[in-house]
Amino acid sequence: MLQAALFLAGLAAPGGTPPPLEHLTILIVDFVPVAPDTLKNAISLSREIFLQARIETTWALCRRKSGQWSGTWCHGAPAAVVHLSIVPHCLDKQGEERVYGRTITNETLGGLTIAIFYEPIEVASRTKFGMHPSVLLGMAMTHEIGHFFGLNHGVLGVMTSRFGREDVMRGAAGLMRFEGQEKALRRAIARWK
Ligand SMILES: [Zn+2]
Repeated sequence: MLQAALFLAGLAAPGGTPPPLEHLTILIVDFVPVAPDTLKNAISLSREIFLQARIETTWALCRRKSGQWSGTWCHGAPAAVVHLSIVPHCLDKQGEERVYGRTITNETLGGLTIAIFYEPIEVASRTKFGMHPSVLLGMAMTHEIGHFFGLNHGVLGVMTSRFGREDVMRGAAGLMRFEGQEKALRRAIARWK
């Protein structure tokens, strides 16, 4: 029954068969460290946004625990893994207090590295949005991974240049999307790997 329903849904989908799933692996190096549940929820929010774009993500985590680095790939990751560091804040704290992350890219190689700034995320979640920080953290990580693969800002969705209250509420409700940039993102991931 379920198979039949899926088959019919597939037939009814505009544009025919959905594109094949793309795969992406992300390594989070957590320097903060963020509370385990917060990070877990942020990852599952981000995973869902990628899945909506037909991208399956695998997440590895390396974090400092009692003065020691522990987790997966703390001492060397394989190729074709996106590195994302979570740090307390940007070095230029004054000028960047409303920025949640930065991605460095190279014209030839594409994305090089991602930094997520946790303190501004935590403060904005508490004071501006009245929301658990995992929502904004998951959205910021997804947004920066989008930049890593060459996406520019859009008017709608997770690539919007500045998250407002409505965006964060949509994120919490599981309604955030790449909004029209899915194909470009899948193509960039396939090229990068
Ligand atoms: Zn941006």
